Amino acid sequence: MMNHWIGGASTPGTSDRTSPVFNPATGQVTDQLPLASAADLDGAVKVAADTFASWRQTSLGRRAEILFRARAIFDERREELAKIISSEHGKVPSDALGEIARGIENVEFACGIPNLLKGGFSEQVAGGVDVFSIRQPLGVVAGITPFNFPAMVPMWMFANAIACGNTFILKPSEKDPSAAMFIAEVLAEAGLPPGVFNVVHGDKEAVDAILAHPDIAAVSFVGSTPIARYIYETGTANGKRVQALGGAKNHMIVLPDADIDGAADAAISAAYGSAGERCMAISVVVAVGGVGDLLVDAIEARLDKVKIGPGTDPDAEMGPLVTCEHRDKVASYLDIAADEGATVVRDGRDHPFEGDGFFLGVSLVDHVKPWSRMHTEEIFGPVLSVIRVDTYDEAVQLINDHEFGNGCAIYTRDGGAARRFTFDVQCGMVGINVPIPVPVSYYSFGGWKASLFGDSHMYGPDGIHFYTRTKVVTERWPDPATSQINLGFPVNR
Ligand code: NAD
Repeated sequence: MMNHWIGGASTPGTSDRTSPVFNPATGQVTDQLPLASAADLDGAVKVAADTFASWRQTSLGRRAEILFRARAIFDERREELAKIISSEHGKVPSDALGEIARGIENVEFACGIPNLLKGGFSEQVAGGVDVFSIRQPLGVVAGITPFNFPAMVPMWMFANAIACGNTFILKPSEKDPSAAMFIAEVLAEAGLPPGVFNVVHGDKEAVDAILAHPDIAAVSFVGSTPIARYIYETGTANGKRVQALGGAKNHMIVLPDADIDGAADAAISAAYGSAGERCMAISVVVAVGGVGDLLVDAIEARLDKVKIGPGTDPDAEMGPLVTCEHRDKVASYLDIAADEGATVVRDGRDHPFEGDGFFLGVSLVDHVKPWSRMHTEEIFGPVLSVIRVDTYDEAVQLINDHEFGNGCAIYTRDGGAARRFTFDVQCGMVGINVPIPVPVSYYSFGGWKASLFGDSHMYGPDGIHFYTRTKVVTERWPDPATSQINLGFPVNR
């Protein structure tokens, strides 16, 4: 049985509720996870609140030193972490290593905290009066994370949060909780004082306890849209600062002048990498102006090259889905597609698999209708839809009319068309001949519309802003030359 991580140590909970953890590649239960009660969460908050006073006093140089050391340990132990991720999420080690690399970027960014926390100063706003602004930490902050990036998404949050001087409680996904424990151990090894970073495992009960707790100042959430909306509404109603990133449906527009082979390669890796369980996965290719046949043929020709297998197979490029239920739900969209009149070019259910793993082959569905469930709903699996339109304007309209606005991409050789797309499209992250435009850590990550609740994107400059509040000081000091105070030393009068 796994434990929580509270006050720098592996700590058992008091609740007797548990949840099984699976290896998706074998279908076997590998561990039991304790699901925290409100009392367990309260215990962690007390430790984090007690630690806040001393952590806040810790110099910026010392905080940066600990983060530099953590960065080095994450780097050295990335293979180990990749195996842990693969064994509970199912993604193959190359995908897990990619996630870790993108996660470590955020630790690197946070190492710059002495520079990032600089305030502003205005001299002589009135006679003898200066004004300066400083950024101070919030207190105890919590992160609630999804299953699909069990290392990277926590790194998006905790690195900046603790660098800013907050103490942190992570509530990871109950589907793949071990990466969070690995992170806790690395941070302890790097010299992070006990109580600064804590892990509380759990489900809705733990999340509701976080949202209600008066000593938690802010909540960062990444997950599906219905839960993101709930977290935002409940957390803000309780007076907390909340950033809640939700689901997605990401389109890749291919204009007639695009490099079709390049676009097909990009579509394959962006749609089926991590078995499509990425919030920035391309799930809809929009073929513009007669490019559809060429493009669908090019994508179909590449489908058999995607090697599917467990993470323990060094040749595997795509693993299983995270749970049996999720695999079945994703597969059910292929029946929905046929009912809605789309053309199922490849049905992933036809791919043979041995054993009890939660595998599904890659699927390609052509002639998807904009109004259909195949297009309006997030499927979150290895299913790529193709919508054919006549014009660029229709393609952009598809994205702008969609409920979600996370990522999107355009493939073209025309710089003017790409520039216009950037101007027109209602989406938080845009790729130009780049299928998955996840911003580097010194920008910030976030979608528009139902892909984000709140006004703050995640990590980068927005992360520093989210995890601090501004204090503005207005000060007046009399000029010694005119002061009546006896300073005890001569001044020019
Ligand atoms: P999820 O919403 O089911 O779970 C996310 C977190 O919320 C987990 O920690 C879970 O324990 C908790 N949770 C689940 N149900 C809850 C409930 N009823 N009340 C309170 N808490 C609850 O998401 P998931 O299946 O783990 O992850 C996949 C989803 O996350 C997809 O929709 C994907 O698009 C989205 N996602 C978005 C981004 C982004 O940056 N926008 C990034 C990664 C994943």
